Amino acid sequence: TGLRDWALASATRGLSVVDRALNEEDIRLAITGLSGAGKTVFLTSLIANLLAMAQGRATLPALQAVLDRHGGGRLRGVRLVPPGAGATPPFDIAAKLADLAGDSPHWPARTDHLAEIALELEIGPRGGMLGQMRGFVGVRRLRLRLLDYPGEWLLDLPMLGQGFSAWSRETLALLRQSPRAEAARPFLDYLGQIDGRRQAEEALVRRGHRLYREALARAQAEHGLRWLQPGRFLAPGPGVEQPFLWFFPIEGAGGPGSMIALMSRRFEAYRADMRSRLEALRGFDRRIVLVDVLGALAAGRAAFEDTERAIAAIGAALGGGRWFGRAAQVAFVATKADHVPELERANLRELLKSMAESGAGSGAGPVAGASFHVAAAIVSTTDGWADRPDGQREDVVWGRVLGEAAPRAYRVGSVPIRQPPAGFWSGRSFRLPIFTPPSIDPSGATGVPHLGLDTLLADVIGDRL
Ligand code: GDP
Repeated sequence: TGLRDWALASATRGLSVVDRALNEEDIRLAITGLSGAGKTVFLTSLIANLLAMAQGRATLPALQAVLDRHGGGRLRGVRLVPPGAGATPPFDIAAKLADLAGDSPHWPARTDHLAEIALELEIGPRGGMLGQMRGFVGVRRLRLRLLDYPGEWLLDLPMLGQGFSAWSRETLALLRQSPRAEAARPFLDYLGQIDGRRQAEEALVRRGHRLYREALARAQAEHGLRWLQPGRFLAPGPGVEQPFLWFFPIEGAGGPGSMIALMSRRFEAYRADMRSRLEALRGFDRRIVLVDVLGALAAGRAAFEDTERAIAAIGAALGGGRWFGRAAQVAFVATKADHVPELERANLRELLKSMAESGAGSGAGPVAGASFHVAAAIVSTTDGWADRPDGQREDVVWGRVLGEAAPRAYRVGSVPIRQPPAGFWSGRSFRLPIFTPPSIDPSGATGVPHLGLDTLLADVIGDRL
């Protein structure tokens, strides 16, 4: 029997080599978005739902519909491909699934750097007559490579076209406006006190850098601002910090050895490093940009306009052929749509579209051929209704806010379909609640409740399935 097993194994091995040569393809899909947009949750849900689909669950019906159109195949297996010898850190799906499992599921920790994961999808004939009749031949293996890419890094792209002094001038002009100025007060005070033309002193430089970085972090955390450069100051990634990161914007001209000259040299080194970080995206010609539209809307006017500018810049960076050799298909997605009842979700899509296309003065212009979607990667609420004080019923979502014992009705307010008028913003500055996620099966057997992941995927990679 030993020999027979061996023969069998080598026969199938032989088959699969042929099979691979003929049928193995790579689909490369990059998921990007600013921190908190929902990349980690999106990838986790996507993978869990693919695993469940391979076990016969109808978790992604629109993807099945694509397979049906392409000859009636079915997803027979999903295998996580080990990272191999790549340079990109792996996306730790097991840990993310574990976070969402059990009696007290919690949202997985975010990644603030690149991560990649590859899945091998085995698509084979559906059993029975139907599969045969449709003439579906053989088994196909597709390798789905998924990249989790920080949107903050893409915000740096416009810096590639600027010199240090132009970048400093523009950045400081913006920083002196409210509400950035409030967040940046200590840094602006510091700038007022130093003379950049003098000999660079490392301790002083490091202080300036620290203050600038704190200004960015505060602008993000306290004011919800998103157009913040350099993006890597907010999403540094793992590992030790390299000295070229220690710069900040400063105006003026300085001779050799001056602080300004040093900042300018570090800026150049930063840009060179940025080019290598962009390399990771090359080849990922399907790109999804996740946008927390509801979060931006909730955070107030300045935050909304900043997000608008940021996503327009990200869209322009990803869609155009300028940085990556050839143009790619970009799908924008408004995430966390389970925060609003169904009626509002169509508006959410319109609003996203208008944000990406207007981009408040970024000059980026609309992204050609972009598509717009609405999704919730892990639905944590249910649609329902509640009585208003005036006795009228209104559509709401019901969910259990993190830290609370019981579910309650939640209403984010009407979602406008385009940049709202000034009156809309008065008195608005709240955060979206964080709902407790549902508990999921870590083996991936049952999938995860989602909204719209399947139609999104069918649209973005359906032609390759
Ligand atoms: P990342 O920084 O882009 O990776 O963002 P995450 O995926 O970590 O998402 C940030 C937070 O948004 C999560 O911790 C959740 O609280 C929330 N979130 C993300 N996706 C969803 C969703 O589909 N529904 C709900 N209710 N919350 C979500």
